[in-house]
Order: sequence, then structure tokens, then C-alpha cells
Amino acid sequence: MTTASTLPTGTPTGMLIGGEWSSGSEQLDVVDPATLSVLASVADAGVADGRDAVGAAADAFPAWAALSGRERGEILRSAYELMTAELEDCVRLIVLENGKAWSDAMGEARYAAEFFRWFSEEAVRIEGGFREAPGGDKTIITDHRPVGVAYLITPWNFPAAMATRKLAPAMAAGCTTVLKPAEQTPLTALWVAHVLERAGAPAGVVNVVNTSQPGPVSEAILADPRVATLSFTGSTPVGKILLSQTAQRVVTSSMELGGNAPFLVLEGADVDAAVEGAMVAKMRNGGAACTAANRFYVHASLVEDFSSRFRQALAAMKIGPGIDTGNELGAMVSVDERDKIAGLLATAEDEGGRIDAVSDAPGDGAFIAPHVVHGVQHGSTLTRIEVFGPVAPIVTFEDTDDAIRMANDTEFGLISYVYGADKGVGITVGRQLQTGMVAIDRGVVSDAAAPFGGMKESGLGREGGFHGIHEFLETQYLGITW
Ligand code: NAP
Repeated sequence: MTTASTLPTGTPTGMLIGGEWSSGSEQLDVVDPATLSVLASVADAGVADGRDAVGAAADAFPAWAALSGRERGEILRSAYELMTAELEDCVRLIVLENGKAWSDAMGEARYAAEFFRWFSEEAVRIEGGFREAPGGDKTIITDHRPVGVAYLITPWNFPAAMATRKLAPAMAAGCTTVLKPAEQTPLTALWVAHVLERAGAPAGVVNVVNTSQPGPVSEAILADPRVATLSFTGSTPVGKILLSQTAQRVVTSSMELGGNAPFLVLEGADVDAAVEGAMVAKMRNGGAACTAANRFYVHASLVEDFSSRFRQALAAMKIGPGIDTGNELGAMVSVDERDKIAGLLATAEDEGGRIDAVSDAPGDGAFIAPHVVHGVQHGSTLTRIEVFGPVAPIVTFEDTDDAIRMANDTEFGLISYVYGADKGVGITVGRQLQTGMVAIDRGVVSDAAAPFGGMKESGLGREGGFHGIHEFLETQYLGITW
């Protein structure tokens, strides 16, 4: 079934500053990667707009922080209800500007709404402490306060979920926000901001600046003394630039960066289950996920069986515009992104990998077919960098310790996947993997109620779960003679 390829009625296209939508002096085109046609032109914010957004957030902060947790929570709960009632609009926007399949966008929109529900509940559970000092001379009271204005930067691959995963905990904590979405996918973020407005978020609590100049606008925002924290999701190189900027004013930051997830199929694993998990871990979002399985390490006794069944499952996927709900693999976000993946395949071939294009992709639009790459050597390009597309490199191993060593042989540490002979093997191996998250016998672990984040160069801090709200809180200790 093909759904309407027009924007949902009332989708904002301006920038949002202090409760006012404005079209600004410059415009930025948003392109549908499935058709390569322009979907909309949105306001293109400049440095002065970024500073105005910070000013609006700073002005709104005292009143928002002074609301009770219950009042803030109820606004977030209303946002959850509204978003759930209008989920199809959100899905349509994600599909149109990002290109992903309808079912992937539906999964994302539901996950995105969950952050409003989860943090509406967390807003009233910010615990402090009260205890005697060990020396008995005083009482230690610990309290948590909203840190202030939070600057939030999101990537294009999950335009709704990355926005709500930051907005919801920041607002629950009592912070006001300036959100900068990715320039390829601003429409979903604008729609989310409009949901929050309609849910009752006061003017200035949520400000959104879409921009074609992320560097200068972000630098000016981070240099502004009214900004208290940065929450960034994106690539590790950009994360490093931003960390150096936050260091100038010693502001806190949380960083959700790149991944290079290993997927281990150990001796004795159930191959059917492993293929089912691999399809989700590799193909959710067309492989454009920081959590995407990037490299497969398969025991020699299973590699033939696993490779052929995985190939078969990939070949059965319907490829085409996500707006047709029957398609399971949509377009990459842009022609550049598609060409980058094609370039990686050429490199893999030069390095001795056997390239296996399992099907054909439509010629128009930013489509690319799934590929399995057989006979890959650990250490080759495909095992070192984030592919971000539907490419599955397979490395064979004989010894579990060797598989663990190869899995950990990367500067990244976001997530790993393990299929072993039983749960005990999965847990034992999982605990030796240097990743912030480990999926055992499953292809996805993301959950608003769980701590999401990476070790090593995959990031700093955690989003979601009980941890997420603390990225936006400052701890204060009161030492008192009781
Ligand atoms: P990206 O190039 O790092 O961009 C991410 C965001 O940063 C975008 O909003 C981008 O704006 C902005 N940006 C770019 N240069 C900047 C600068 N100099 N200063 C400030 N902001 C700047 O990443 P991407 O290609 O959009 O997203 C893919 C990456 O995100 C992958 O590495 C993926 O693993 C990672 N990711 C991580 C997680 C996680 O939770 N760990 C989740 C999703 C994605 P423009 O759009 O205008 O360039």
C-alpha cells in the first residue's frame, strides 16, 4: 500500500525561538532521497538566530525549573499521548525526509514516543540523599538541580527518536533546550517541537534551529555563557570537535557517537535464531544505525550455513520507496551516502573480499541493494570503519577467545551481539566485550527504560533508563550540623 507522499497538514517549516515560528532570511531545501525531489524548504538559521534561541531558553529557564516535577511530567505525558495519536504523521515525515522503510519508521516513532512516557514518569523520581558523615560531625544532604540551558544536536538516521531521547530527559529535569536537528532531516524535529508546544510546553522551553552552518552556529551557541550542557548524537569526529569546544567553558557534555558493532555466532549457536537476529541487527534502518551489526564473526563450523541462510533472507527483502508500506528496505538518506557505501564495497573487493550483491536496487533514488561480503579478513577496512548501510562482511574464526579479541580490537565500544550455544555462554562472552551494550540472542536492545550508550570512542554518558535524566542535573551537597 502506498501512503500519501505529501507532508502532513500543518508540518512546521520555520525555526522555533521563544514560542515564535519564523521563516528567517535564508531557506534550506529538504530532499526526499527516494525520489530526489524537494519536499520542503525550511528556515535556515544563522549564528544570530542561534544566540536568540539561547536567549529565549535562558529567559524561560527559571519558571520552567520552578515547576513541580509532576507539572513537567504531565506536559511530557500529554506529548506522549499526542504523538501516539498522530503517530502516522510522524512516520510519514521520517520516511519522506530520511528514506527508510515504513516499518522501520513506525518502529522509530513508537520508540521516540516512549521517551516522553518514560521521562514523564522519571520527572517525579529524582532522588536526593540524607545521611550521617562517617566521622559523625555532620549530615550529608545531596540534592539535584536542573543544570540550565541544554544544547541538543541530533543526527539524520533517527530524526524523531534522537530528538525525544534528549528533549524528554532535559525537560523532565527542568532544563530548557535549543535543539539543532541534522540538516537533511529537520522536518521531523520541527513536528516533535510542535507536539510539545501543543502539549503545553511554555514558550522558550523548546527552541529549534535548523541550519546549513552547523559549525559556526554550534560554536557560537557553545561559547555562550548561558549554555550549561551539550548533548550530542552523531559521528565520533564531530563529537571530538564539540568536546574541545565544551572544554573551553568547562561545560558538561553527553556524547552518543559512532559504533562498529561485532555480531558473534559462536560454536553450537542456533543458526536460524542467529539469522533472524542478524536481519534485525543489520537491516533495521537499512543498516544506517549506530547500533547496526557492522561485522560478523562466525565459527568455522557454521559459516557456510549461516552465510547462505542470511543471504537468502536478505535476498527476499523488498526494496523501494518507504512510502509504499510493503517495502522492507528504503533509500539511504542521500545519493552521497549511497555512493560512500558503494565506495566501501569497491575497497572491500580490492582487499580480497568476495562481494555478493543479493538483489537489485531501483535505479532512481538513493537505493542500494543488500550485500554480503564473504571471506573478509579481520583488520580490513570493512571491519574497522562504520559502514552505515546494508553491507554484511563475514569473518570466519575457530576459537572463541580469538573472536572476543577481534570483537574488542576497535576504538569503538557501543554495542555487540552474541549468539552462543546457551545463555551461559552468551553472558560469559558478553561480559568480556568492551561495549556499553550487549545483545544476547537478540537483534535489538534499544529501550527507553534502559541505559543507552557506549564505551571507548563511542561516547560519554548514557541516555534513557534511570541514568538519562542525570545528564541534565547538577548534584549539590549540603554539609550541615544537624
Ligand atoms: P554527524 O555528521 O556527526 O552529524 C551529527 C550532527 O552534528 C548533525 O546535526 C550535524 O549537522 C551536526 N554537525 C556536523 N558538523 C558539526 C560541527 N562542526 N559542529 C556542530 N555540529 C555539527 O553524524 P551523521 O552523519 O548525521 O550521523 C551518523 C553518525 O551518528 C554515525 O557515526 C552514527 O553512529 C552516529 N549515531 C550515534 C548514535 C548513538 O546513540 N551512539 C545514534 C545515532 C547515530 P548537519 O546535519 O548540518 O551536518
